[in-house]
Amino acid sequence: MSNSTVPTRLRLLATGGTIAGAETSGRGYRAAALSIEALVAAVPQIAALAALDVEQVARIGSQDMDEGVWRKLAARAQSALDDPAIAGVVITHGTDTMEETGYFLNLVLKTSKPVVLVGAMRPATAISADGPMNLYNAVAVAAAPESAGRGVLVVANDEIHFAREVAKTNTTQVGTFKSPNRGLAGLIHNGRLHYFGPTVRRHTAASEFAPLSAADLPRVDIVYAHAGMGRELIDAAVRAGACGLVIAGVGDGNIPAAALAACTAATQAGVAVVRSSRTGGGLVERNIEVDDDAAGFVSAEELNPQKARVLLQLGLTRTGDPQRLQAIFQDY
Ligand code: GLU
Repeated sequence: MSNSTVPTRLRLLATGGTIAGAETSGRGYRAAALSIEALVAAVPQIAALAALDVEQVARIGSQDMDEGVWRKLAARAQSALDDPAIAGVVITHGTDTMEETGYFLNLVLKTSKPVVLVGAMRPATAISADGPMNLYNAVAVAAAPESAGRGVLVVANDEIHFAREVAKTNTTQVGTFKSPNRGLAGLIHNGRLHYFGPTVRRHTAASEFAPLSAADLPRVDIVYAHAGMGRELIDAAVRAGACGLVIAGVGDGNIPAAALAACTAATQAGVAVVRSSRTGGGLVERNIEVDDDAAGFVSAEELNPQKARVLLQLGLTRTGDPQRLQAIFQDY
């Protein structure tokens, strides 16, 4: 809450996910079963932090998130952020693909106001549901002036993550989110924020992809590497019309010789190929075991495959040149 008598006003955009999930009679649950109004009503303490305008943008499990919903979400978020009466945006979202949506918004929203994604690992009706505290903390982060200019953030389990860094690392546990390379943006406890350093990569107000243009996002496929991998899936992706491929490579973004030959053929056919890693941490450097210069490949640097896909989709709206794409991967 600001010092003035006017409460901080935030826009809460709901998309579904487990935070809005309800247990079913068996052992499962249904994501996105509850409305955003019901979620907010479960945490009356939020009223002391900010006034919320709520809007249901989608009502899906985030495994169904796609470019169409991203585009709608970005438009609704940008419209809220452009409103001088709105101090920031909170987005409720399933955890499965939160890292991709968060990174996408980090690149396409023209703003320095806080934008915070929040989800939960346990359905709203579960014992020790984590959603209410996560939502409370997310509102606290979005309402805090010191959150401005940090890019899109993800709040869960008393942690604040940069959207660029965060990854879901565990199928069920509440501590699923990790930022393996550069670490946390900060911590939050009962609404009290403790920021560490800022992020140095370009985002939001400084992003060349913001605001999101009307240009279609091109098809980019991810191909997962493994021992004994052949070239078939790479060839199939190219035949299916992929403009770009992200290889979830073994180790330092490596792939077996047959798959490497297919990737080289793909670049010769004008398809952008980005080498990433399936390891979950570290960075893929250029020209170590693969001659990226000769093959025309791009290295994903620290981006995991799913985030490299997002950046490649946006990058391909600007250029197909591997050197220029590499510069984009070094900037963002
Ligand atoms: N599949 C659901 C989703 O991503 C459940 C995961 C969650 O929200 O925690 O929406």
